[in-house]
Amino acid sequence: MSGQGQEDPRATECRTCQEFDLEEAVARSERDGSRETDCRVLRRRHIAAEHAQHAECGEPQP
Ligand SMILES: [Zn+2]
Repeated sequence: MSGQGQEDPRATECRTCQEFDLEEAVARSERDGSRETDCRVLRRRHIAAEHAQHAECGEPQP
């Protein structure tokens, strides 16, 4: 198991998400915890900004 493609099914079609995913995987394989967290935070921010319309479990919109 390489741990790929089992995160957010709704984000798999987004290239930016994939890139964050990949970088996070790389950081994890290099045991770079801070970078891994960084990727996760950045991806979350990206999802909140770009996928807010599709996200159902996010914060309520104004
Ligand atoms: Zn995305």
